Amino acid sequence: MKAVTVLGATGSIGVNTLDVIQQHPERFRVIALTANRNVDKLYEQCMEFRPRVAVMADSQAARSLSQRLKAADLKTEVWSGPEALIEAGGLAEADMVMAAIVGGAGLAPTLSAVQAGKTVLLANKEALVMGGSLFQAQVTKHQAMVIPIDSEHNAIFQCLPADRHPMEIGGGVRGLLLTASGGPFRDRPKSDLDSVTPEQAIAHPNWVMGRKISVDSASMMNKGLEVIEACYLFGTEPDRVRVVIHPQSVIHSMVEYVDGSVLAQLGNPDMRTPIAHALAWPERIESGVASLDLFEVSRLDFEPPDCERFPCLQLAFDAARAGHGAPVVLNAANEIAVEAFLDRRIRFTDIPHVIQDGLEGLGGMSVSDLEEVVDLDRRARCGAWDYIGMHLS
Ligand code: NAD
Ligand code: MG
Repeated sequence: MKAVTVLGATGSIGVNTLDVIQQHPERFRVIALTANRNVDKLYEQCMEFRPRVAVMADSQAARSLSQRLKAADLKTEVWSGPEALIEAGGLAEADMVMAAIVGGAGLAPTLSAVQAGKTVLLANKEALVMGGSLFQAQVTKHQAMVIPIDSEHNAIFQCLPADRHPMEIGGGVRGLLLTASGGPFRDRPKSDLDSVTPEQAIAHPNWVMGRKISVDSASMMNKGLEVIEACYLFGTEPDRVRVVIHPQSVIHSMVEYVDGSVLAQLGNPDMRTPIAHALAWPERIESGVASLDLFEVSRLDFEPPDCERFPCLQLAFDAARAGHGAPVVLNAANEIAVEAFLDRRIRFTDIPHVIQDGLEGLGGMSVSDLEEVVDLDRRARCGAWDYIGMHLS
């Protein structure tokens, strides 16, 4: 029986994780659940999974959850605030931690799981983009294990040799092919992108996801963050990662070997597949996902990405090549720009301008420890708000 903590339990990945867990009560028990401020959802999840601990980032939400759980006679302890999230990430009883908080807010709790030597199921790509090689050094130091949840990286993990070093791509690999659906604006004329709304941007054709990652998918920054994520996860250079637009989202990514073999992982676009894979690894368990019907899919299309239409992808490749603090700044500026776009303060096409300005100002900074990462992240966020205030509002 494995004890599991779910950080970000009320989000899209969190809910899918609990869906897989409830299909296997003999294998998994839930030790802790965390959320930002969605009391109703976390209450419902506590009633079903009876964790020892529930954490809410927001203290008022935590008070309300605590009252409701007491009234229901449930013994779950309720904690609140950022320190409690960090403590939940490293709880001694947990074997596995699903890191599914969105954005930079997930870095500290995810690192806490790493530093406690857990098996970390990593959905929170922003944490790795920010922490980079410093994050990976902690994984090695504390003998943690990271299994990627992002469907592309999980596919690559499945296509790489099982006996490779966890952070090295290994001999015989020529490169990684990262597939991308192209998002909701793949076929839109470039001139239309100025006026697209948040509602249009979050309506992804193939996947149902949280708002932030949905906007990232529409701008292709999601693929850009994933290029950086792949470099850190698999110890490779950006020039060995190719992005392939594949609108059906059936091939989740591929590994090309020097002998010409290309291995791919296929499946329906449903996050319960990578989640079940990671929860049970190296075994296989049911996920609740329907069999892939190749006759229904009928065709698989591929095209190169258009970096002119989607400048965020180019910015991410540039940041990946620059290394050091550039990915931290890219991620921070993007988070602020996406928030401002969702609040209708800036246009969709302003997002890359905010990021470019951040990279020009701070992208050359180096980071030598995790405190410097947090500091650079904070400065880049302030810089992005200033740029929006001065040039775009
Ligand atoms: P979501 O917005 O649906 O859920 C985010 C979760 O994080 C919620 O539980 C929320 O309560 C919590 N949270 C948000 N802000 C917080 C804060 N400041 N402090 C503490 N908790 C906070 O997001 P999602 O779509 O589930 O994505 C989660 C992560 O997984 C992201 O990093 C995303 O890039 C990654 N990911 C998601 C998918 C997907 O299909 N949804 C696929 C691949 C990767
Ligand atoms: Mg992905």
